[in-house]
Amino acid sequence: MNAAKLPEELCAECHCPSCGDDLSPGKCVDPWSICLSCARGHRFFIMPQPPLAADSVMDGANLPSMGDHSPEAIANYWLSDPLLRSLLNQQLAELLRIFLESRRVTDEPEFSFCPICGGTLVEYDQPDIWVRGLRCHRSHSWALRGYRIYSWPLELLAEPSDAVVSQLIAGWLKDNSHLKPYLHESIRRVLTCSPLCPKDATESGA
Ligand SMILES: [Zn+2]
Ligand SMILES: [Zn+2]
Repeated sequence: MNAAKLPEELCAECHCPSCGDDLSPGKCVDPWSICLSCARGHRFFIMPQPPLAADSVMDGANLPSMGDHSPEAIANYWLSDPLLRSLLNQQLAELLRIFLESRRVTDEPEFSFCPICGGTLVEYDQPDIWVRGLRCHRSHSWALRGYRIYSWPLELLAEPSDAVVSQLIAGWLKDNSHLKPYLHESIRRVLTCSPLCPKDATESGA
């Protein structure tokens, strides 16, 4: 498990996609990711690249049940422990961080400024229907999907709004055979304890 590194392109200067101000290293409870924040409190994250073995899922891994620990302790354990973290799906890592930080975010993140140069981003036509193409006047081009903006190999994740977090939690708690192998029982318990967990998700999911 390797911690996230600040990409070279963003080392000299780095701009907030939402307001264009400088982004500088901020604090977050996830020891493996990089948090960047601006003076207005917009936060963006660079997640660690999981080792290739992460796809091997946790079924076979001999994991502790963590049955008698608090949801906070479980979330911390999964986020920090190198072995557990190497098995942890990236979106689940985000959800555990959000649970521990218990911040409330009402607005959807905006992507108006180029993270590399701070220039205004404008939409341009590109062939991938799953993303929006954004480009600045210096031709840094970005793909925007949901609350993540990327320009290979750079990827910045914004702080998702509470509404999006609720949707993501509901998605994980559904009986979904693709997601199930990644969702350890202890993580399911943390998600159901989140104040952002939709009520009906806990009833149908168990
Ligand atoms: Zn900002
Ligand atoms: Zn640019």
